[in-house]
Amino acid sequence: MDRPCFKICRSIENHVPPKVNEFDDTDVEPEAYETNNTMLEAFYDSCVELDTSDLSSLCDFVESFVNDLLEECRKALPYQNTLPLMENCIGVDSAFEGWHTQKLSKPFAVLVPLLPPKGHSFQIESSDSEGGPSKHGHILVEMECVCKRERLLGDVVCFLHHPEQELSEDKQGAFLLHVLCTSSHLDAEKTVHWFQSMVGKAWNNLHHKYNLELTPQPSSTTCRLKLAFPSGRSILVDIILGVQQGDSLVFLVSHYGKSDGAKGTIWLKTFAIQELLFFKWVSQRAPERSCHLKCLQILIYFKESSPSSKNPVLTSYHYKTCLMHLLLLRPLSDWGPENIATRLQEILLYLHTALRKKYLEHFLIGNISLPIQIPMPQVLRSAEPLNLFEHLAVDPNLHAEAMKESMEVVERVRALCSEHDK
Ligand SMILES: [Zn+2]
Repeated sequence: MDRPCFKICRSIENHVPPKVNEFDDTDVEPEAYETNNTMLEAFYDSCVELDTSDLSSLCDFVESFVNDLLEECRKALPYQNTLPLMENCIGVDSAFEGWHTQKLSKPFAVLVPLLPPKGHSFQIESSDSEGGPSKHGHILVEMECVCKRERLLGDVVCFLHHPEQELSEDKQGAFLLHVLCTSSHLDAEKTVHWFQSMVGKAWNNLHHKYNLELTPQPSSTTCRLKLAFPSGRSILVDIILGVQQGDSLVFLVSHYGKSDGAKGTIWLKTFAIQELLFFKWVSQRAPERSCHLKCLQILIYFKESSPSSKNPVLTSYHYKTCLMHLLLLRPLSDWGPENIATRLQEILLYLHTALRKKYLEHFLIGNISLPIQIPMPQVLRSAEPLNLFEHLAVDPNLHAEAMKESMEVVERVRALCSEHDK
């Protein structure tokens, strides 16, 4: 006999659109749900869980460690600096949103906002203002006149009006425009490379403070560090460089998630801060021991451990997007721990429906139901929604691959439950 709880999985497999009442818990015997819930909880405990207090102390450690590195990097900048300045880091993505999983070696990601040095400005060029929200942007570096400050305080040189003036410090004080730019635009790869070498030097001055081994990992779009602790445990840390778009908390970054990363002067737009704030907003309002993060962790665990996990078409971001949409579609009170089996399948169903339509809306761009507490520029809030599956709509092979990947996860969920039946 089919387990009632797996109606949604079943309709996904048979390509039958689920009936409206399949979102309704009331027509199923409570025992069936209880069994599935217990089974999912047990699976979560044994395979997925990273102890939450453990995760949050690791997050704290990563942020303070990176801030220490940044402080050391700042010390290395010359007095008459013309290279970007670094603000303290902000932890983003899975670990800091609370859905990191123990068994996967996903990096802890931190965003480091870059600021223009004195006498320079960063102008973001992207197509937001012309209607279509873009996923990329350029960063134009311009020199500003600081003659007045040069006259009054003498702590800067206006290179706009005294370009012949040599910098007094060593070669590190090279011009931003010469070293990190390509035709007046900040070059992501050059900037990452510069930062990587600075971190290497900073670690030389700092390693005596930490009982760990730091190994930089090769990447042209992020500063990825492997930290190995005496306990034998090791973690990856991605330091992502970004420039803030005005005062919007939207960033142009060198790297994000599993996407290709920035190339040359093309930087990626990210809403990482908005997503982080959304997960905080949810956790403040959801029931105690809410199941929303667990659902995502279990699905990501299945996704990453499935046969197609090497170069998947469907990313964690797609699963996370489905979850974020569902968190607004249902009252948050429905996300109690007793509903884990149903909510988990709803995420799969949401993904499956989006795959069939080849249409998955970006959660933040053009989402008028986004809570007002999440800071988004009005122009993006009211923009045309962005389809994250656009590439699937134009490439049937890619679409077929994505369908296959999603079915593998559905199968894993089903298999887990039938195992329990035996
Ligand atoms: Zn000037």
